[in-house]
Amino acid sequence: MAGNDKLRAQFEEDLRELLATNSRLTSHLRNEDRTLPKDWSDLAQFLENDEVLEALETRSRQRIASLQKAITRIELGTYDTCQSCGKTIEPGRLELLPTTPICAKCAR
Ligand SMILES: [Zn+2]
Repeated sequence: MAGNDKLRAQFEEDLRELLATNSRLTSHLRNEDRTLPKDWSDLAQFLENDEVLEALETRSRQRIASLQKAITRIELGTYDTCQSCGKTIEPGRLELLPTTPICAKCAR
């Protein structure tokens, strides 16, 4: 399906960007590109920033996983099939949430 080819290309592009961002975040969090501050209050601020970055990393990892799954569903021809009840996912819902694997009814 031509529409899904375009969507798949978009997903793959998003995926590449996310993977690049995520590997930067991961190496940053592993202290590969920085040194820990010696001053306690600097350290507190530093760790607080890390929590924000960790939350970002977790979120982008979840997004990576849902993009990969959506690409697989396109390959299998089940992109718009609800993974829970097997019915067709509403087109409007897919427009809003392009990587959702379930229909509106199952999401409730
Ligand atoms: Zn469903």
